Amino acid sequence: MIGIFGGTFNPIHFGHLRPALEITEALPLQELRWVPSALPPHREEPEVDAQLRLQMVKVAVLSEPRFRVDDRELRRPGPSYTVDTLESLRQELATEPLALLIGMDAFLGLHTWHQWSRLIEMAHLIVMQRPGVYSTAQYRQKMHPDVKALVDQHSVTDARQLHQLKSGKVWFHAVTQLAISATGVRRVIKSGHSARYLTPDRVLEVIEHNRLYR
Ligand code: ATP
Repeated sequence: MIGIFGGTFNPIHFGHLRPALEITEALPLQELRWVPSALPPHREEPEVDAQLRLQMVKVAVLSEPRFRVDDRELRRPGPSYTVDTLESLRQELATEPLALLIGMDAFLGLHTWHQWSRLIEMAHLIVMQRPGVYSTAQYRQKMHPDVKALVDQHSVTDARQLHQLKSGKVWFHAVTQLAISATGVRRVIKSGHSARYLTPDRVLEVIEHNRLYR
C-alpha cells in the first residue's frame, strides 16, 4: 500500500512528520509520498515559492527510507486538486491500494473539496485523529451530513481490510498530535526567535539560507 500526504508545507514541521510516520508503521505502508501543493485551492497563494517548499520537504524526509517526495502538483498548471493527483497516481499504480492521509481538521471540511466524493473511489481515506481529545463519536457530531454518510457507509476498524482493496474505505487512527502549525513556525521566525525543535535542522538551514519568513 502506498500513502499520499498532501499539504502546503509552508514549512513542513514535526507536527506533519511524526503522525505520518506513525500511520506508515500502523498500516503499514510500503511507501509514503509527500505531495506539496503548487496552488492550494483552499487558501491564498503561499508567499514562499513552491520549489522552496518542495526543497524543505525533500530535506525533511531524507533520513526516512519509506518517505518519498512527489512533485506532480508542481508540474501541473492551475489549482492543486487532490482528486487530480489521485487520478494521475492511479494511472501509474493501477492495482496498488492507495491511502490518502488527512488530518481530522481537514477531514471535517472534506465536503468542500473539489469533487470530494470521487476521492474514495481512488484511495482509502486515512483520518489522523488526536488521541483522547474527542472520541470518534464526538467527532461524528461535527461532521457535515454528507461526510457522516460516507463514514457510516465506508469506515472499517481493522487495517488489514484496507490491504485487500485498492480503495473505498475510511480508517480512523489516533496519532501523536504535536501542537505545531506552519503558521506558528512562521510567526516564531518572523519575531526573530528560534524555530529549532519545531522542524528538522535541515529545514531550518533552507529557511536561513533563503531568508524565509522574516
Ligand atoms: P498552516 O499553519 O499554514 O495552516 P499547517 O501546519 O496546518 O499549515 P498544512 O501544510 O496546511 O500545514 O497541512 C497539511 C496537512 O497536515 C493537513 O491535513 C493538516 O491537517 C495536517 N497537519 C498540520 N499540522 C498538523 C499537526 N500538528 N498534527 C497533525 N496533523 C497536522
